[in-house]
Amino acid sequence: MINQINVGYGKTRSVIRELFEYGKKRKAEIGEDNVYDFSLGNPSVPAPEEVTDALIKLVIEEDAVALHGYTSAQGDLSVRRAVADDLNSRFSTALSADCIYMTCGAAASVCITLNALLNKGDEVITFAPFFPEYTVFTANAGGTLKAVETDPKTFLPDIAKFSVALGEKTKAVIINSPNNPSGVVYGEEVIKELCKVLAEHEKKTGNRVFIISDEPYRELVFGGIYVPFIMNYYADSIVCYSFSKSLSLPGERIGYIAVNNRMPDWTEIYAGICGAGRAMGYVCAPALFQQLVKRVLGKTSDISVYESNRNILCEALREYGYEVVQPDGAFYLFVKSLEEHAAAFAERAKKYELLIVPADSFGVKGYVRIAYCVSPQMIKKSLPAFKKLAESYKK
Ligand code: PLP
Repeated sequence: MINQINVGYGKTRSVIRELFEYGKKRKAEIGEDNVYDFSLGNPSVPAPEEVTDALIKLVIEEDAVALHGYTSAQGDLSVRRAVADDLNSRFSTALSADCIYMTCGAAASVCITLNALLNKGDEVITFAPFFPEYTVFTANAGGTLKAVETDPKTFLPDIAKFSVALGEKTKAVIINSPNNPSGVVYGEEVIKELCKVLAEHEKKTGNRVFIISDEPYRELVFGGIYVPFIMNYYADSIVCYSFSKSLSLPGERIGYIAVNNRMPDWTEIYAGICGAGRAMGYVCAPALFQQLVKRVLGKTSDISVYESNRNILCEALREYGYEVVQPDGAFYLFVKSLEEHAAAFAERAKKYELLIVPADSFGVKGYVRIAYCVSPQMIKKSLPAFKKLAESYKK
């Protein structure tokens, strides 16, 4: 018999997941190609050829018992070494295998990190719009998420507002660039300003605040735009990474946490990460995929499809009268709702078989998110529906 159930967990569902489930039902009714499903950040571009080749080779050539067996709780040593080497060669860091903890994707990376850092009652700051799961992840770690408004024209952090939001309970700041859902990339100037405010806050109050950089979209940027690597700007930083998007492997659940060894107490922080991973049951990330990523570090799926989707969609939507902030990365478009309530707008969009996510749970009202990681054919086929939706507001 079950004595106690945390019913709160079942009460609030993810809006994104609900729409995705609705889409599956609708596709069964009217056909896969007739539903324009922009609900989920599920990559449509296949994993690079090297991934398939390495996977086949691993399964054929390696000892099956060892390949599928448990690894060390924090991940296989050779894999962690390879991840550290890869980061060092790209970002001029000096990380060792002992800074890396292999995880089941970015969600696990963020959850473990928050559980390692937070005490009950601590606050975590992030910038709206933000990935809605941060609310749940932070609450689960005993903390409260506080979202700071961004500049509505750019969706970049408003430094003055950030400065005011910092308090004695602030333990960490989650940044996510390239951003889900806005697609904006925080440039070097923004990162430097954020770090400066945190350094001043620490000097004034003695409060140490960590930066947790959630970066599943690190490589998904267009036009060669530079994404600053947080460890080079701020010592008290932890990077949460995932191969879900860069290698189109979201269902395989593989990523890592990298602890900045420029922190004087980084070994203690790393031990805390290991302890939190253990307490949450997140030990030994999928062994086969640990081995796989080791062999394909530095490879990325063909993101030119996303760039072309972005260009076609941005141009067409603007022409139809939508307000869109041009994203520089990830594969999301943040669009102003054509009526006050984004949920009503997204509901009306369903009449045109358009599945778009109202952004209230992302911390910004009056916007919707379009996940354009779909096929180019789907983008082109969906344009008349977007046009009709806009026209329906002009009647
Ligand atoms: N963080 C952000 C900003 C995301 O957009 C996602 C997934 O869409 C995640 C974390 C979770 O990623 P993963 O599938 O690797 O757990």
